[in-house]
Amino acid sequence: MLKIGVLAMQGDFREHALMLRQVGAEPVEVRTPEDLNQLAGIIMPGGESTAISRVAKATGLFEPLREFCTTYPAWGTCAGAILLAREIEGEAPHLGLMDIRVARNAFGRQIDSFVAPLNIKGLIGAPLEAVFIRAPIIASAGQGVDVLATLEDGRIVAARQGHLLATSFHPELTPDTRLHEYFLDMVRGARLVV
Ligand code: GLN
Repeated sequence: MLKIGVLAMQGDFREHALMLRQVGAEPVEVRTPEDLNQLAGIIMPGGESTAISRVAKATGLFEPLREFCTTYPAWGTCAGAILLAREIEGEAPHLGLMDIRVARNAFGRQIDSFVAPLNIKGLIGAPLEAVFIRAPIIASAGQGVDVLATLEDGRIVAARQGHLLATSFHPELTPDTRLHEYFLDMVRGARLVV
């Protein structure tokens, strides 16, 4: 069984772990550098990017995590996508690995959270009901980045650059497991190209 890490500093890592079980992978909560051993990939959950980054630095996980994400498949959802971004509007980047520029809290406050049906490149079937909670948008994406989904107004909310995947929304909060399956395919190498 594939072991997939879920960064467990803060945020909704438990929901991702449940989804991973449902799609037949073994989730591993990652809190220390040792937890990264023998993982085939990692998911960075939604939560608060500044808090997740701060705790990772305080516990010595930050650099090993960055190192891991340079070669292994990594998927950031919401706050996790902010962690991956090379640029954050008005702030210094965290891991700074993916060639995207994000704007935090792009849709306003908690009360402005919403659900939107999304057509995602590479997913078969009905649009995915995407949950946005104080979500970032991907304000721009570099040349090597494949845009996987946009809102009706054209704003980018899912993108992929090789082994890195970023989504603005929370696919772990609905019963739809297709994006977790997509990530597992990435990990297995079955989706090396989109
Ligand atoms: N607003 C959070 C941040 O900027 C992200 C919100 C989320 O992960 N749901 O880090």
